[in-house]
Amino acid sequence: MGAAVRGSNAIYLLDACQSVGQLPLDVDRIGCDLLSATGRKYLRGPRGRVSLYVRRSLLDRLEPPFMDAYSAQWTDMHTFQWRPDARRFEGFESSVANKLGLGAAVDHALGWGLDAIAARNAVLADRLREGLDQVPGVRVRDQGEQRSAIVTFTAEVPSLETLKRALLDRRMNVSLVSLELARLDLEPRGITGLVRASVHYYNTEEEVDRFVGAIAELVR
Ligand SMILES: *Cc1c(COP(=O)(O)O)cnc(C)c1O
Repeated sequence: MGAAVRGSNAIYLLDACQSVGQLPLDVDRIGCDLLSATGRKYLRGPRGRVSLYVRRSLLDRLEPPFMDAYSAQWTDMHTFQWRPDARRFEGFESSVANKLGLGAAVDHALGWGLDAIAARNAVLADRLREGLDQVPGVRVRDQGEQRSAIVTFTAEVPSLETLKRALLDRRMNVSLVSLELARLDLEPRGITGLVRASVHYYNTEEEVDRFVGAIAELVR
């Protein structure tokens, strides 16, 4: 995408909510102008806090949707000036505790190193995919060359909701992707619903195996 828009007038906003905290990301290599990332997913920060990267050269082309005395300066009766930096996208009021929490989560991830996190996650996710592929009635549906720590699969069961609840009884959390959430991806592939299991570096191989065992038991 970055190569396709480079040199054009297009603005490239990458929503990296699922990637930040699990993969090394480099806005220059990606070639994006903006990158948004929630703190509550792979970074495991507090809910309700998001970060936004804005390429400096783009700042003057962007008008934030909201304005207050923090994001802009009231210069005389009828004029104002945006802040010169990307904080023009922030508001005056925010949760300081959440901000500190997100900072701690970022430090924690950087402390382990994103390369190390991605490498560990790949081991766990590969193991999970290999395990699930052995289960009759289950099919891993992830595509792409570099697959993430989010593992999605279909299961031949009467109800994915029931499967999810049965896993919850075993203290295993999965989420479901219904058709309404991803029509562009799922409809052409003839998929009506996916189960999504995410691993992170703190998971153990034993936990992954236990999960595969539970799926094998529940999908018959
Ligand atoms: C989760 C997610 C969001 C929203 O994140 P919030 O923490 O709810 O603000 C946006 N885009 C993508 C791709 C996501 O996965």
